[in-house]
Amino acid sequence: MNEFTPVLFAFIVLISVLGWYTSNLSVSGALSASLVGIVIGAAFGWKGLTILGLFFVSSSLLSRFKKSQKHAIEQKLAKTSKRDWQQVLANGGPASIFSILFIVINEPSLFFAFIVSIAAANSDTWASEIGPLSKGKPFSLRTLNRVEKGTSGAVSLIGTLSSLLGSFVIILFSYIITPSMTVNELIILTLFGFLGSIVDTLLGASIQVEYQCSRCGMRTEAKKHCSFSTMKVKGLVQINNEVVNFVSCILPGWIVLIIY
Ligand SMILES: [Zn+2]
Repeated sequence: MNEFTPVLFAFIVLISVLGWYTSNLSVSGALSASLVGIVIGAAFGWKGLTILGLFFVSSSLLSRFKKSQKHAIEQKLAKTSKRDWQQVLANGGPASIFSILFIVINEPSLFFAFIVSIAAANSDTWASEIGPLSKGKPFSLRTLNRVEKGTSGAVSLIGTLSSLLGSFVIILFSYIITPSMTVNELIILTLFGFLGSIVDTLLGASIQVEYQCSRCGMRTEAKKHCSFSTMKVKGLVQINNEVVNFVSCILPGWIVLIIY
């Protein structure tokens, strides 16, 4: 257990309210973000919270960056840039699980699992916020053809570089504020964070659900489009974007735990 003070608690609530006020979080999103913050703060104190904060602030800013260019993709993804509890827990849930485990068994390598799961979340978020700004259409790993931007399981060079950078930024920051971390660990953990976005892409290309609008023909992750119900064209109904995000954040963390 770390120093969990009233100041820390006030800080978490303030950030969540700010997230809601700036429309980055819905009410349920702000509540679950507070919960995630409290668990992480209780386990890793300010250190854990600043790492979480870096992820939250950078992805909120990125989702606002060149928003008009990404409007069509928002329609496709069934979600707006306002994050609800499902999206918050998809990205912050794995980090919370590693934090709770750390409080219970106090195993130091859980800190690595924690930062890797945040790095994976950041990696995936950066890829999906910056990738769509690339000029060309992305390449689908499923059909091996060019597809519309925002399609799950599709990759572009800019998106891939962004996801590597997204992981690196989180691990580099952790490295700077953790004197005991080595350069080797910096490199290895960055790659594990990046692995998360690879898992995300592979699941997106395979079992993640995708629907098609019967009116306009758009392929989407939304169950409704043009105010009509959409039809499933691929994947499993249970495997939506949030489930895929959760798995791709928790899996690299588990592998790191096994290694260390
Ligand atoms: Zn439609």
